[in-house]
Amino acid sequence: MNAFANALTQLKKAIQLGGLSAETWEFLSKPQRIINHSLPVRMDDGSLRMFESYRVQYNNACGPYKGGIRFHPKVDLSEVKALAFWMSIKCAVVGIPMGGGKGGVVVDPKKLSVTELERLSRAYAAMFAPYIGPDKDVPAPDVYTTPQIMAWMMDEYNKVTGTEAPGMITGKPLAVGGSQGRGTATAQGGFYVLSEVVKKLKLVLGKTTVAIQGFGNAGSVMAGLVQKAGYKVVAVSDSSAGIYNPKGLVLKEVEKYKQSTGKLTGFPGAQTITNEKLLELPVDVLVPAALENQITEKNVGRIKAKVVLELANGPTTPEADEKLFKKGIVLVPDVLANAGGVTVSYFEWVQNLANYYWTEKEVFQKLERIIVDSFNEVWQMAQSKKTDLRTAAFIVAVGRISEAMRARSWIN
Ligand code: NAD
Repeated sequence: MNAFANALTQLKKAIQLGGLSAETWEFLSKPQRIINHSLPVRMDDGSLRMFESYRVQYNNACGPYKGGIRFHPKVDLSEVKALAFWMSIKCAVVGIPMGGGKGGVVVDPKKLSVTELERLSRAYAAMFAPYIGPDKDVPAPDVYTTPQIMAWMMDEYNKVTGTEAPGMITGKPLAVGGSQGRGTATAQGGFYVLSEVVKKLKLVLGKTTVAIQGFGNAGSVMAGLVQKAGYKVVAVSDSSAGIYNPKGLVLKEVEKYKQSTGKLTGFPGAQTITNEKLLELPVDVLVPAALENQITEKNVGRIKAKVVLELANGPTTPEADEKLFKKGIVLVPDVLANAGGVTVSYFEWVQNLANYYWTEKEVFQKLERIIVDSFNEVWQMAQSKKTDLRTAAFIVAVGRISEAMRARSWIN
């Protein structure tokens, strides 16, 4: 399954149903710029290794490119292009003045020492310095990149450009210009969206059951938020397996067990199940929060949830999307459900440019307003076009990007 081909299928559908122009398709079906560097890194044993790396600058009609840098052994250009495209859509869905970009380095960071990881991160920032910056392209963390890596990249960028520009990257530690709330923003945004969906579907909180695939940054924070709000979290999973207790999981115990053993398998307060089985449980809300391509043509017939909230990027294939819609399952797409992360990244950039910092309460108040307004706009679009929420979100976003491109006379 090619991620970029899936992304273009979603784009084509939105352009057709939204009545958007052929020139919009022409412009948005390709990235504006792809930069590719081999990064030389001196390893601890004195040897030299070259690492393939990318930055895809997809579209900047609405503002500077914005998007994370992924460190992963399997990252490739097609994946980075898809992620850069989805970032353009995501920023436009929530109406923040930024475009879409993404970066990637082909590396297994778990096999590097801390000093090797630092040299690699600094090499990326130095090599890409001519193309990134607070008013050009603003990277952030993604899979296997961390606030510490952002701090190294900012430090290196500032050295090679002779500036002091914290706004050249987001997701930084608080001590060097990070934002309050950034660490939990993705799940927080997803939680605000879920609260709106629950109201629309008139689900009863105390009785609403939730299963979450992935117990990392996004998934574990989401589990805590929904449980605190009164939902019943009955299943969670990590790469080892899933755990299921129809009466509800005691999350504190789950976290303790995961911390001490490093995995969820064998947790005594629940039945161990496979990740595949978790997706098919009889729950009200299913939250994929791990990987791409989890709900596909093969298992879509067995999905029983009423709501699928995509905290992960790209967990559902286009074929499965259509089938879920036909079955009446409400799927809240990644570009809306996980947009809390990029929205607070945008807040971080704004605070860096102003050199004036907000409290966590201010951050979450602003986030809630943006996410709830965006959800309502997408919901109304879906009703008026009689379509699914993903296509509706794309119509809203592509409409905004195409308006900006027309104002710049890039398209007619
Ligand atoms: P993470 O690395 O913190 O957590 C990933 C989780 O997925 C881990 O619990 C891991 O064990 C689990 N996992 C890995 N392989 C699995 C498998 N085969 N089956 C089931 N679970 C598996 O990552 P994260 O930051 O929580 O990101 C998760 C997803 O959310 C990704 O798709 C990411 O792109 C998306 N996302 C994250 C953010 C953010 O701010 N963290 C923002 C937007 C989107």
